[in-house]
Amino acid sequence: MKLAWGAATHVGMVRQQNEDAFVAEGNVFAVADGMGGHNAGEVASALAVEGLRRAAAAGFSAAEGLVTAINTTNATIHEASGGLSEQRGMGTTLTALVPLPATDGEPQRVVVANVGDSRIYLWRDNELKQVSADHSYVQELLSEGLITAAEARIHPRRNIVTRALGIEGDVNADSWVLPMVVGDRYVLCSDGLVDEVDDEEIATILRASTNPQVAADHLVQVANDHGGRDNTTVVVVDILTDTADVTSRDTAPDTTATSTTLPESSAASPGDAATHVAASARPRRVLVAVALVAVLALGALSAVGWYARDGYFVGFAGQGDQAQLVVFKGRANQILWFRPTIEIDSGVVRQEIFPSLADDIDNQPKYDSLARAEAYVNSIRDVIAAQKPAAGDGT
Ligand code: MN
Repeated sequence: MKLAWGAATHVGMVRQQNEDAFVAEGNVFAVADGMGGHNAGEVASALAVEGLRRAAAAGFSAAEGLVTAINTTNATIHEASGGLSEQRGMGTTLTALVPLPATDGEPQRVVVANVGDSRIYLWRDNELKQVSADHSYVQELLSEGLITAAEARIHPRRNIVTRALGIEGDVNADSWVLPMVVGDRYVLCSDGLVDEVDDEEIATILRASTNPQVAADHLVQVANDHGGRDNTTVVVVDILTDTADVTSRDTAPDTTATSTTLPESSAASPGDAATHVAASARPRRVLVAVALVAVLALGALSAVGWYARDGYFVGFAGQGDQAQLVVFKGRANQILWFRPTIEIDSGVVRQEIFPSLADDIDNQPKYDSLARAEAYVNSIRDVIAAQKPAAGDGT
């Protein structure tokens, strides 16, 4: 069997930086969606696809090889984030597809794997099916039956992922082994696509485009037509017979990679490699399970406006373990003539806060009111108190 493929990525219509990355090279296909302040998201997603590219160069003999490569890549990103203060808490989603070598008497297979909320779809017999399961807060609500699929699509916290590469020393990737079926088409994409384009419209575009590059370009374009509020990346992989005419990877210089293998020295992210001032409309945030459970258990998260536009933000004043957790008035990372002022000093210092939550605070969550910012700080104080049975309960 042969593969044909196409890939496209675009910064979108709102953001100034493309933190997505992809690889599409015949022996490995992947999409990564980075997160973290400064350039950390871009670094994380680039490291992720580069890790898979290197692993693929050595070859995958079995499905476990892909999972091992993801674990190794996770460790690389995690180490990199520890070394640089600006890249603390950086992480990335990763969704990948690798064709396995043919073995005697067995149908040829592909292995797909996922961490986070980028997705792999299978388009077969005119039907679109999501192969991967999102590791997201909204998916958990959906699985619990607390919200509908329609509500999930527009949920204000749909960008909270519950698993990502780089956040912890270990990562648990989902993986599936599937038979290679002639006529199948796989679509790997970042959430920028699915947030803007529903399954029905994705299906319509896939049906209309026999060429995978045309399909990838078209999907990205429609995401931008619908607002392009996030970076969008799409990789389309078609499974053909040996005799089929392989056509793909032609034009569209702005949004696509070249058809040949990228040289070793080139940037791992074929997207927007330049650095700009980051000003995300909807910053991504990783909330690892422990933080999610702890804060949810206190019922505090619902009272907190994580994505309020402006007004107040929570962050650390000072550096190191003794940095103070405070509420600032003003805007983070902005406007030279207006310095944020400290409104509330929580009395909590960084070393009291478990690392994944501290990393989250490094992203300086914003609130539209002081009360909401204070509620968040209070919930953190409660979490700390709950962890310290001998202290912190003196009310
Ligand atoms: Mn995204």
